[in-house]
Amino acid sequence: MPRIAGRNFLFVPGPTNVPDRVLRAMMVAMEDHRSSKFPELSRSVLSDLKKVFKTTEGQAFIFPSSGTGAWEAALTNTLSPGDKVLASRFGQFSHLWVDMAQRLGYDVEILEVEWGEGVPLDRVEEALRADKQHKIKAVLACHNETATGVTSDIAGVRRVMDAARHPAMLFVDAVSSLASIDFRMDEWQVDIGITGSQKGLMLPAGLGIVCASKKALAAMQTAKSKRCYFDLNDMIKANATGYFPYTPALAMLYGLRESLNTIFEEGLDNILSRHHYLAEGVRAAVMKGWGLKLCAKEPKWYSDTVSAIMVPEGINGAQVIDVAFKRYNLALGAGLSKVAGKLFRIGHLGDLNELMLMGAIAGAEMAMLDVGVKVKPGSGVGAASDYWRNNDPVSKKKADKEAVYATGPTF
Ligand SMILES: *Cc1c(COP(=O)(O)O)cnc(C)c1O
Repeated sequence: MPRIAGRNFLFVPGPTNVPDRVLRAMMVAMEDHRSSKFPELSRSVLSDLKKVFKTTEGQAFIFPSSGTGAWEAALTNTLSPGDKVLASRFGQFSHLWVDMAQRLGYDVEILEVEWGEGVPLDRVEEALRADKQHKIKAVLACHNETATGVTSDIAGVRRVMDAARHPAMLFVDAVSSLASIDFRMDEWQVDIGITGSQKGLMLPAGLGIVCASKKALAAMQTAKSKRCYFDLNDMIKANATGYFPYTPALAMLYGLRESLNTIFEEGLDNILSRHHYLAEGVRAAVMKGWGLKLCAKEPKWYSDTVSAIMVPEGINGAQVIDVAFKRYNLALGAGLSKVAGKLFRIGHLGDLNELMLMGAIAGAEMAMLDVGVKVKPGSGVGAASDYWRNNDPVSKKKADKEAVYATGPTF
């Protein structure tokens, strides 16, 4: 029987749910991207993106690509072939960025870290101190490793770079953290922040976004790596007049305008708190309710945008995901590469609230029961409900005083 009625519950950690108002904003007729009116749109999104990166010093760039293209833009615009970079690898995304850097011809010093942990600050500091001749040109850090649900301490990376008095640039993959986990480009002196449109920005996939510091833009002047489509110089020239060097993804830019409006209406810092609060509810379901473990080894690594949930020995995580999809119309994230079959992921970023997540928790629980995981029915939802009911981020007292539910017209 085809499952047609009701909506699909999309709980992969990207693409995330696109708010209806953003979908509507993208339903536009095509227009001339060289018109005298177009710069209004391009200038407004380029300048407002900087607020999301928390930078006044940096410059934002938008490519019609996914986050992977933004990784490539960061590397090829600032480095020369053979340049050394330092990267830690602890999941599929940090791995893919390392792999790209190697394939582009850079010399990558890799710090191998157990999956479930994040950037090892002490080892980064050690590697930088050992590099007396300052051969390392950039430190690459994956802020939120989406494959394992691990968030790294980027302020800490800056701290150890400064402690080692190392002049390397700091490049941060913020694809699954921007606009959902605190990211402070200026304060942490990040030289390039990278994101894609389909995660915290609540858009379809299709934009690769880079935000570059003055130091990164200066490095571009001597960087000899071959680049063409992703050349920031071309972007800088065209953006200066409000245009793009090639046809921009127009509907996506209208969507981005509306998603930025949504973000500023809720307030970026409120969004960050909401993500933490929602994530805590999911973690309560996983650990208190189901008695399962997260892939993230310690609370300091817990991600507020995605939880990677270890399934018990003898259970295939892929089967949980398949049953959830086929029977309950719920899309959960898969275990990737090394952790394939060992876990499933619940994405909790973007346009979400408690009850949407209740659907995901209930569905994951039903699918687990269906494939033989011995969790107590209702335990996940119960634990999340306990957490959310007792930790309302909007002052509870205020709500109680004001809330008088209308029972009918008063004359
Ligand atoms: C999604 C993601 C990417 C980029 O993936 P694309 O599919 O190219 O957008 C990169 N890094 C992390 C941490 C991600 O979550």
